[in-house]
Amino acid sequence: MYDYLIVGSGLYGAMFAYEAKKRGKKCLVIDKRSHIGGNIYCENIEGINVHKYGAHIFHTSDKKIWDYINTFAEFNNYINSPVAIYKDELYNLPFNMNTFSKLWGIKTPAEAKKIIADQIADLNITEPKNLEEQALSLVGTDVYQKLIKGYTEKQWERDCKDLPAFIIKRLPLRFTFDNNYFNDRYQGIPIGGYTKIIEKMLEGIDVLTDTDYFEWIKDSKNAESIKKTLFTGPIDQFYNYCYGVLEYRSVRFETEVLDTDNYQGNAVVNYTDREVPYTRIIEHKHFEFGKQPKTVISREYSSEWKLGDEPYYTINDDKNNTLFAKYRELADKEENVIFGGRLGNYKYYDMDKVIAAVFEAIAKEFGE
Ligand code: FAD
Ligand code: UDP
Repeated sequence: MYDYLIVGSGLYGAMFAYEAKKRGKKCLVIDKRSHIGGNIYCENIEGINVHKYGAHIFHTSDKKIWDYINTFAEFNNYINSPVAIYKDELYNLPFNMNTFSKLWGIKTPAEAKKIIADQIADLNITEPKNLEEQALSLVGTDVYQKLIKGYTEKQWERDCKDLPAFIIKRLPLRFTFDNNYFNDRYQGIPIGGYTKIIEKMLEGIDVLTDTDYFEWIKDSKNAESIKKTLFTGPIDQFYNYCYGVLEYRSVRFETEVLDTDNYQGNAVVNYTDREVPYTRIIEHKHFEFGKQPKTVISREYSSEWKLGDEPYYTINDDKNNTLFAKYRELADKEENVIFGGRLGNYKYYDMDKVIAAVFEAIAKEFGE
């Protein structure tokens, strides 16, 4: 008998299993993929940890979360500082004094602020109603045209006027010469890759890969062997899409091994014009300051999602949030099933937020 069947061996499922085991519970973790780790899984290619489902940088301002994740791996001092290429021009991200100096040939924050303020004043936007207005009223026309519009429209395949303003709010704007993409106090990449963290969390726990819950549970022997289920797969699938299908954006990765030790000199290079079909190129070795003789790059193509494709980004617009609320109502009535993670909660969670959510779920489950 298992106290918990945990569907999904991503960060949410693995951490829940670890914490439940610590409290004396017996867990079985199943995953339909052929490996553990969910979307933070790293595959070793040419001695390089390749972030198979997209680049992952751990960052948080919460010391408790930072200390917790550091018990599973040692983190390096990587600071994410992407570079943007617009046509044949190269700029630092996020939007900061290095960007403005390159754009306008200026040196001081006062000069940059004046140019942006003049551009904003000409636009007459009082209350930004969409992403375009939000971006324009924050950074003015030049930054919007060169660094936001093309990238965002490729990423979401929608006009910036049809996208919600909040998407852009998470990008920092600074009037200092600081290329750190995040404002968080703590940041880094686990030395040796993310899969090691999951392996450590799942030590001593029964795990079955290549095992789809919906097939597994059909066998009554299996169904009878579990007391409670934590489900971190898509919540709409759990209910057989009875109210409809929740939508996602997907990403296609074209990964290539190159016979050079350094292709682009940076882990992340964004392509912000519309003409280049991919949104960014990731050169994985630079996350860990790798010295391997070869390199591995991944071109990211944002793509339309249809049922059966890998779900990546939740689309938290009104339509999908309303649909999710209906599934949530069903979920709230379950006595022996808990839903968790980005698919179970239909929410874009960064890894630190996943950890916070598991702390909360564990406290609730064990009445702590
Ligand atoms: P997942 O990792 O998706 O795990 C769910 C697991 O459930 C999967 O392994 C899946 O195979 C399994 N599963 C689903 N259905 C079934 C089924 N029927 N039967 C059995 N198994 C099933 N966060 C950051 O903090 N920093 C970043 O830089 C960052 N970059 C990101 C980039 C991209 C492109 C994306 C999409 C996300 C990024 N994130 C980042 C977020 C991060 O990936 C998530 O916070 C984290 O992976 C969520 O873990 P999870 O366990 O909830 O989900
Ligand atoms: N963005 C942009 N230009 C860039 C990078 C990002 O306009 O060079 C916008 C884009 O709308 C994107 C949002 O900022 O969807 C969030 O970007 P982030 O890099 O945080 O997204 P993620 O890493 O989740 O893909």
